[in-house]
Amino acid sequence: MACPFLKEGRARYCHAAPIRKLILDGPGATDGGRCASPEYRTCDLVAKDAVQPDRCPHLEEIRVQYCGVSPVTKLVPFSDSELSSCTSNSYRYCDSYLLLARPHAMSPAANLLYAANHFWLDAEASGFCHIGLDGFLADVAGDVSGITFVTLHGTHCPALAITVNGVEWPMSFPNPLMIQKVNSRVRRDPARLTADPYGSGWLFEGWEIPGQTRNGLMTGPQAAAWQAEERERLSREIHEAHAPACDGGSPVRGVAQLLPREHLVCVLQKFFAQRGWSVEA
Ligand code: SF4
Repeated sequence: MACPFLKEGRARYCHAAPIRKLILDGPGATDGGRCASPEYRTCDLVAKDAVQPDRCPHLEEIRVQYCGVSPVTKLVPFSDSELSSCTSNSYRYCDSYLLLARPHAMSPAANLLYAANHFWLDAEASGFCHIGLDGFLADVAGDVSGITFVTLHGTHCPALAITVNGVEWPMSFPNPLMIQKVNSRVRRDPARLTADPYGSGWLFEGWEIPGQTRNGLMTGPQAAAWQAEERERLSREIHEAHAPACDGGSPVRGVAQLLPREHLVCVLQKFFAQRGWSVEA
């Protein structure tokens, strides 16, 4: 599915010019000027013996796509845009889209896959993927003050370190991805990770390695049951090990900000260290 802000149109360019400059056709555009009239013969790029009567033979017309909400209109030929995030479900991670269409935090899509250390994976049929950290981590952390990407490009298990209440915690997605880019905006503004963990707080973008990237991940009702059990397990952990005087109830959002360092490290180790499902409570 393409982004609702993606527009289509026709554009013209000069085939003989050293630099291809696309000009959008449509309301407000010129009608081709000299290139689309017999005057084209006065152009230095045209052979003196050109025979076409009413328009330059170098004038080409193609179909283009462009973002209807970008302040700068960048025209992309149809044939080049197949891999663009605007023409696939990846538009959901575009900042322009998020700003205009979805001012509130995104809820997790039903098709997300989860790793036991609370990474999510959104894998499209094309193999294009996004990876982030889930809402459970966002609720526990409340605030992340720093993000350092360890893997930036190439085929790796995506890895980073997040800083929570003064503790820098290393995290790694358990399976390899062909990483194309990381979210530089979340690095500059780590608050995105906890404010919108399934949208503007995404972390890695890249291509699935068939037979590897999805290995051992959980989805659907099984994942929903696991998420609920993780919240129960956190409750038990906080009340039994870190706040025994507390009289029950669910831990508040941002409980990590209230824990002394050694208790926080213990919680991070129990919930966000790399592990398999077998050690689940
Ligand atoms: S740049 Fe963003 S908002 Fe514009 S069409 Fe592409 S995905 Fe949509």
